[in-house]
Amino acid sequence: MTLFDARHLSWPRTRALAEAGAIALLPVGSTEAHGPHLPLSVDVLIAEEVCRRVALRLSRDVVVFPPVAYALTDFAAPFAGTVTLNADVARQMLTGILSGIVGGGFQTVAVVNHHLEPAHFRVVHDAGKAVQAAHPARRIIVADHRRAPTGPKLGHEFMHGGSHAGRYETSLMLACAPALVDEAARLALPSLEIDLPGAIKQGATNFLECGGPDAYFGAPADATAEEGERLFDLLAEATASAIESPAP
Ligand SMILES: [Zn+2]
Repeated sequence: MTLFDARHLSWPRTRALAEAGAIALLPVGSTEAHGPHLPLSVDVLIAEEVCRRVALRLSRDVVVFPPVAYALTDFAAPFAGTVTLNADVARQMLTGILSGIVGGGFQTVAVVNHHLEPAHFRVVHDAGKAVQAAHPARRIIVADHRRAPTGPKLGHEFMHGGSHAGRYETSLMLACAPALVDEAARLALPSLEIDLPGAIKQGATNFLECGGPDAYFGAPADATAEEGERLFDLLAEATASAIESPAP
């Protein structure tokens, strides 16, 4: 149905949309290093594009709120431009934003998070649960595409922890914002097959310690816009079905 950008709405129009059953979407990303070939805004841009594609699939109107561009992002902290918040600040910020959206009258609010650092995703889930507990009559959805059945469809690299600025994210960027991908830098990058979850289990606390001196993992040179389109369809479909499925 129709997508409305909350930044362009008046408050009476917002209230009317909420009362008519529109779904609120909150895109969540980060400001963090994504290799030498991608901008700091990758996670925000991916989250916003997924929101646009979710709106096309839903039977109700959608209001997309301004994206959350800052997050807990300790793994990329050693790289210039990365801005990390501690977990308490990030949790309070997200809880406050979701409470504000619910306060506007929206019955269903979905968080569309594409910053995948595990500690950050925990914070997003915690904030969703806190706001859900405070508003039991509403529905707060935190879509989590890492899980089956969606995760395994997103490719080997995604499932094996190389999904930071590699083939997966670079393909998504080629599909939604190709002008922001430095093609010369991308094509020159050697594949860096590193088991991020394994490195984290062994105590690594940032991308340097994981063996990623340029803040990318996986194979950016293998990325294609066609693959990005397919991935966006999978992500949007998973998020839309999480929203459409009956409350648990
Ligand atoms: Zn990312």
